[in-house]
Amino acid sequence: MLAEVARAGVEEVDEAVARAGDALPGWRAITPRDRAAMLHALADALTGQREDLALLEARNAGKAIADARGEMEMVADTFRYYAGAPERPLGDTIPVTGGQAFTVREPVGVVGLITPWNFPLTIVSWKLAPALAAGNTVVLKPAELTPLTALRFAEIARAAGLPDGVVNVVVGPGRTCGQHLVEHPGVAKIAFTGSTEVGRSIAAGAAASIKRVTLELGGKSANIVFADSDLEAAAAAAPLAVFGNAGQDCCARSRILVQDTVLERFLGLLEVHVKALRVGDPLDEATQMGPLISAAQRETVSSFLDGQAPVAFRGSAPDGAGFWFAPTVLAPVRPGDRVAREEVFGPIAAVIPFADEAEAIRLANDTIYGLSGSIWTRDGARALRVARAVETGVLSINANTSVRVNTPFGGFKQSGYGRELGPHALEAYTEVKTIFYSTET
Ligand code: NDP
Repeated sequence: MLAEVARAGVEEVDEAVARAGDALPGWRAITPRDRAAMLHALADALTGQREDLALLEARNAGKAIADARGEMEMVADTFRYYAGAPERPLGDTIPVTGGQAFTVREPVGVVGLITPWNFPLTIVSWKLAPALAAGNTVVLKPAELTPLTALRFAEIARAAGLPDGVVNVVVGPGRTCGQHLVEHPGVAKIAFTGSTEVGRSIAAGAAASIKRVTLELGGKSANIVFADSDLEAAAAAAPLAVFGNAGQDCCARSRILVQDTVLERFLGLLEVHVKALRVGDPLDEATQMGPLISAAQRETVSSFLDGQAPVAFRGSAPDGAGFWFAPTVLAPVRPGDRVAREEVFGPIAAVIPFADEAEAIRLANDTIYGLSGSIWTRDGARALRVARAVETGVLSINANTSVRVNTPFGGFKQSGYGRELGPHALEAYTEVKTIFYSTET
């Protein structure tokens, strides 16, 4: 066993919300310079403890240590990026008759953060850093499966000098603690990452008190490979775009749309890369993909091998203890097959052929989701046409990247609303106030 963690109930949620409420006036009143200094100190502390945190995260979530290291670098970078925010100009001046109008941004208040198990501390940092920079206090409910790095983070934040009550962590089930946070009258906003189903219930629960809500939900993103692309590069990049983090990634490009004239060639290249993926012990430096998070998740993922689409080839996975699942490519998949429509959240890729640009766009948009995606082509005009036509919050051309600290991230359609990262996240943790100053009295 890795650790035992006390399980919170609704009473602890009440206490955490009360403490966050008590800490709010003091945190708001801290000068921008001092708030920035505290966030810089926190970023420094996170950098200093990066290796320990990476090891803890790898064990917490069963993820490859190399990935965990990269994630912890991003966690520290996220706090450093938002440490610059308190001293940045925010707001407009607007010419009006009889005086001057201007806008300021106020913190929303106590913010409830509900986070998932796939990128445990990374997703915490995307919410916490802009929330704190904007002057809010927070109650964080991490996923029960992976609470360890959130708890360690709270210790680091306290040691770095954040005042008591500014960051509160409650570890408990979503159905009790999470829901109580959503309905709590002392909470002004909920920021959630997780399944679309729970996101829907959070939006409904928050409606009663008109709480602010931002939702980062599921995806079924398309990796569109045109015949005129650098096929070698596209095939080399595709495996980690869907099998990274064992496919437990809302940005997973789990539908690979391939122009039919190069389908056979692309599959041949892809097979080599999928079979070369190193799947194994998360603490082994060479590992690229670890196990799934839980037995339940493996069962869900296995249910997609339902015979609707043929298995083209599979990579390897260890036997024995651990929720292993070999990376699997299904081809050809029809657009109506379940694996083409539902989020798998595991290492299964669905390869779907298309005839031309119009069909590629139609297929890419034939989903309730709209989170990320990639386009592979050497034709610049086509790349831009397709990028504009695909209904998704993040897209990369001839690359896989979805996420950068200083660029906005979030979804269209049922992938959610609101944006994380970049300057847009600050907007999500503030209210706009317009002040009119009369020059006539
Ligand atoms: P959930 O959406 O159930 O969990 C995400 C977070 O929400 C957890 O902290 C969970 O708490 C909490 N939660 C659960 N129910 C409620 C509720 N009624 N009110 C408030 N909070 C709640 O995701 P799962 O972990 O169950 O994963 C299921 C599927 O969701 C995956 O297979 C995947 O398809 C998708 N998913 C998508 C993610 C993304 O990044 N978009 C991330 C994670 C999952 P707890 O788990 O502690 O009970």
